[in-house]
Amino acid sequence: MATPVPVHEPHKVKTVRPIAFPGIEERKRNLAAAHFNTFNLTPRQVAFDMVSYGCGAVTQEQLAGQLLGDEAYAGARNFETMNAQITRVLGHTYVCPTHNTLGSVKILLHAFAKSGQRLPSNARARIDLHAPRGIELLDVRDHAEGVFTGNFDLARLETVIGEQRPPFIGAQAFADGQHPLSLANLRAVRELADRHGLRLVLDVSRVVENAWYIQCYEPGLADRTIADLVKLIAKSAHAIMMDGAQDARANTGGFLATDNPADHERFINDIVVFEGLHTYGGMAGRTMEMIARGLELMCEETSVQWAMAQTERFTARLREGGVPLERGCDGAYLQADQFLPQAGAHAAHALACALYQTSGVRALVPGLVGRDSLLPLQIPRLAMTNRQLDQVADAVIALYRQREQVPALKLERDSDWHDALHFGSVFADLAEYHFDCEPWLIHTLEPIALTSREQRERAIREAGWNTFLLRSADVAIDLLTDSGTTAMSTAQWAAYDAASPTPATSDAYLDFVAAIRDTYGYDHVLPTHQGRAAEQILSEVMIKPGQIVPGNMYFTTTKVHQEYAGGVFADVIVDEAHDSTSTFRWKGNIDIAKLDALVREHGADKIAYISFELSVNLAGGQPVSMDNLREVYAWTRKHGIAVMFDATRAVENAYLIQKHDLRYRSTSVKDILREIMLYGDGATVSGKKDFLINIGGLLTYKDNADWARRSEAKLRIYEGGVRDGGLPAADLAAMAQGVREMVDDRYIRARIEQSVRLAGWLREAGVPVVEPTGTHAVFVDARRFLPHLDQDEYPAQRLASEIYVETGVRPMERGNVSSGRKADGKNYRPALELVRLTLSRRVYTDDHLRAVADGIIRLWQRRHEIGGLRFVYEPRDLRFFQGRFEPIPGGEQEQPGKRASGAA
Ligand SMILES: *Cc1c(COP(=O)(O)O)cnc(C)c1O
Repeated sequence: MATPVPVHEPHKVKTVRPIAFPGIEERKRNLAAAHFNTFNLTPRQVAFDMVSYGCGAVTQEQLAGQLLGDEAYAGARNFETMNAQITRVLGHTYVCPTHNTLGSVKILLHAFAKSGQRLPSNARARIDLHAPRGIELLDVRDHAEGVFTGNFDLARLETVIGEQRPPFIGAQAFADGQHPLSLANLRAVRELADRHGLRLVLDVSRVVENAWYIQCYEPGLADRTIADLVKLIAKSAHAIMMDGAQDARANTGGFLATDNPADHERFINDIVVFEGLHTYGGMAGRTMEMIARGLELMCEETSVQWAMAQTERFTARLREGGVPLERGCDGAYLQADQFLPQAGAHAAHALACALYQTSGVRALVPGLVGRDSLLPLQIPRLAMTNRQLDQVADAVIALYRQREQVPALKLERDSDWHDALHFGSVFADLAEYHFDCEPWLIHTLEPIALTSREQRERAIREAGWNTFLLRSADVAIDLLTDSGTTAMSTAQWAAYDAASPTPATSDAYLDFVAAIRDTYGYDHVLPTHQGRAAEQILSEVMIKPGQIVPGNMYFTTTKVHQEYAGGVFADVIVDEAHDSTSTFRWKGNIDIAKLDALVREHGADKIAYISFELSVNLAGGQPVSMDNLREVYAWTRKHGIAVMFDATRAVENAYLIQKHDLRYRSTSVKDILREIMLYGDGATVSGKKDFLINIGGLLTYKDNADWARRSEAKLRIYEGGVRDGGLPAADLAAMAQGVREMVDDRYIRARIEQSVRLAGWLREAGVPVVEPTGTHAVFVDARRFLPHLDQDEYPAQRLASEIYVETGVRPMERGNVSSGRKADGKNYRPALELVRLTLSRRVYTDDHLRAVADGIIRLWQRRHEIGGLRFVYEPRDLRFFQGRFEPIPGGEQEQPGKRASGAA
């Protein structure tokens, strides 16, 4: 049996490329400036660029290879690596590198063919390369074949060979992106070639998709792996050529390979004339390294199954919407003449323009004019989520429904090639399609562990039923924390690389200051290595021993530093925050009556400042309302007390104000954030949350130069220089860019609405979750999930472990275990007994989270079988980190080890 399609991506997102989403007026201007030819649009002008060539996502290992090029002219180490990998994956021994397929075709034709010859082939798109050289391609495809439409018509091939004496037979795996051939047919062609003393040359640029097709549809081959089939296909030919920018997911590059040393010699003698030297062939060393690694990765079974399932899903959705298309190996090829019969000769261009106008999706009309009227909508390999693909399909379907309004284009400049055509047009009044999906493409991905249930049962036993002690290598989807786990953007990486290091004032620091002033409106900017470092300094500067620090609930590190500085924490959050069933919208609010009571009892002098957290973490990511911010600030002005924000999740709070406070519906998150910050005097921030970075923090004051000077003195002692806070310029530069990206409305909406959807799926199935859904996490109420357990049997700890065993997902306990024991040795037994599912920024897709929800719902359905835990090792402090447990014997009807096993 072929590997089943995984229910979610077998990888997570490592780096993202943000998408611009130009508005309708901008798109119309762009189209006019592009002469109504979408070839002239740049990626920054498009929402989704539906082309696969050189646009795929790479793994982090492949990207790392990019930095290993030795860029030698002769005898490059990278060439040796690539040659070895080609031999291993594709079976051919002698490799001739080229700069891409065109380089390979150039060498091949120069070595073997002459102008005036006729070449039998199953591919038609290659006419573009052969016709200008005077070589005619003969169509020998078997047009009667319904499944393997790229198969050769063997009888016709035999006739053509007899009549034409062609230079060789040109074959293509998944010809033209639409026509796969079978292994049996390929082998028959090989046999025929041998009989006639001809070479069979196979283009394997899309060999993986062809191998998948064979695995699915060719009798007797379903058991073979993609890697096996790829090699069998490649070995069927005398010579192969490959474009590095297709299956191998490099951005350029290519090669010819053969087992025949004499042919190899002819290739490499031509290479020096046309391409480079025989050990680099017109490629940078890094490209060879990327191809070498890509060749291995492209055969990775689950990735292939995932990518092909995406193509199936995309074409199926379009078909259901009635859109006329041919299914391709990498997407849907729209039949423009049927889609827009009124658009005449240039239907494909008219369709591409209308699609861009209505949605910002760009499709390209490739190659020579007059070949066919297909408009390919290719999926950049592994770079898009299913949510995005569904929406692109819906944008096409929405256009299909108003196809009669789409005008024909008027040709203004003619050419043999589509890319050079110019058109004129008028804009029809077409309804727009609005995207509501992740506003980024996947640039780099990181493979994740796909484990069996047995492996997970072993892993949780070894981890003592504590998800903190699991190895991340055993975790598929890590929902432990959103701290420092973000996927950085390509712009952040670019800034990171470009930053010049210095222990003095870096440009990155100045850029960070500018970004913070622009975003928060605060003057004094002190970078720190993390949030807790800023908290330490703030507490020491602002708190006199014995003073009270009122706060809306508390955060662990914040409270510890307040106490170290001699302060006494006083909880002033509204009562609703402590009730997991209350649906009050603004559970982060401060209860001003509680503040009044503190002042009455102790006097205003006794209050150090108000510690005001936004999107309160320990309450479940619950927001503060703008009215509350305003009222608390007004109250503090009366009493001469400062307001210090924990602004770690201020952007998330700002979004919830935009969403739930009608007065702010059409205010940008950036402007809301500016207004929030007006109602305070300073802030600490853990950059590892809102700022979209992996390390960093901030201490900032609105206008008090005295606090800033005193804080700087401490910064020098505790953290690093006053202008770096112990961070390298590179991290400061990435942080500055992250601050700009965090206030993008589309980004923050996509982030928070993902938690809302996850909570919704769980709620629909009856799973008890904390209401309302917070910003950064979904909390499952373990007390209501496992009501048959006593709280001292640690229901949340057990549920967190069971979620891991069931799904490979790692959550965190937030309940009795986290709270610890009182002085009398008894557990605290807190009101909230929760399992936290925390969402990293830009890392997981809806498919990952749907799998999380489905797994938890399966547990919910057999919740009665789940027993409790007892400690086998219990540290005195912060026991949740290192504590180890075992199931209470007889505490459940069935031990997990005895359950039927299956993959998640
Ligand atoms: C994470 C966090 C902190 C601590 O920041 P670090 O960067 O981990 O030191 C402080 N406050 C809140 C609300 C946090 O979520």
